[in-house]
Amino acid sequence: MARYREAVCRLCRRETMKLYLKGERCFTEKCAIEKRNVPPGSHGRDRRRRPGAYAEQLRAKQRVRRVYGVLERQFRRAFQKAERLPGKTGENLLVLLERRLDTVVRRAGFAGSQAQARQLVMHGHVRVNARKVNIPSFQVSVNDEIILKDKMKENDMVLQARELVGRQMIPSWLEVDPEAGRAKLVALPKREELITPPLQEQLIVELYSK
Ligand code: SF4
Repeated sequence: MARYREAVCRLCRRETMKLYLKGERCFTEKCAIEKRNVPPGSHGRDRRRRPGAYAEQLRAKQRVRRVYGVLERQFRRAFQKAERLPGKTGENLLVLLERRLDTVVRRAGFAGSQAQARQLVMHGHVRVNARKVNIPSFQVSVNDEIILKDKMKENDMVLQARELVGRQMIPSWLEVDPEAGRAKLVALPKREELITPPLQEQLIVELYSK
C-alpha cells in the first residue's frame, strides 16, 4: 500500500503547527516547528498573501489527513461513509478516523506516532478480540479489546511509547492496561474529547460539497 515516505516534519511546517508525527522528538527543542515555523519551499516566508476560502478548506483537509496518516482515496472513502451516518458529517468523519485500529493503538500509548502504530498493526503484532488484525483502517467497535502480542510488550519502541504516554493523555473512551499491552474501547469517541491538534472539520465538508 502506498504511503508518504518523505520528511514528515515538512508536513508540520506546511501546516504551520505541530501535528505530532514523530513521537518523542515532537516534545523536544529539536522539533522543526520550535526551530523555524515557516512553510517549506522558497516562498515559505512570504506571508503577505491572505489565503482564500478554497486554500483554507484545502489546508483543513490536508491537516486531518496528515494527523491520521491517510491517503487521499482512503480519506474520501471515510468522508463518504461519514455522510451516510446520522449527525454532523465533519464530526462523524473524525470519529471514524479515531476508531481506526492504528489510531486506537496510538491513543492507547502502544506507539509513539501514527506511523509506528500503523507498522505494529501491519506487521501483525496486534489482536482484536484475540484475532489477528493487520489492517490499519479496521474500525474498532465499543467493547472490542486490543491486545499486543506478548513479544511486543517488552519491545523498545513500545516501551518508549509507554513513557511518552505520560505527556499525552489517554482518552476517556479507552481503558488501558499498559503493562499487559491491553486496551478496550469503552465508548464511542466524542468530538469535544478528541486529543488532536486544532482541526476544522466543517471546512472539509464545505470543500467536498462543492
Ligand atoms: Fe517534526 Fe514532530 Fe515537530 Fe512535527 S511536531 S515538526 S513531526 S518533531
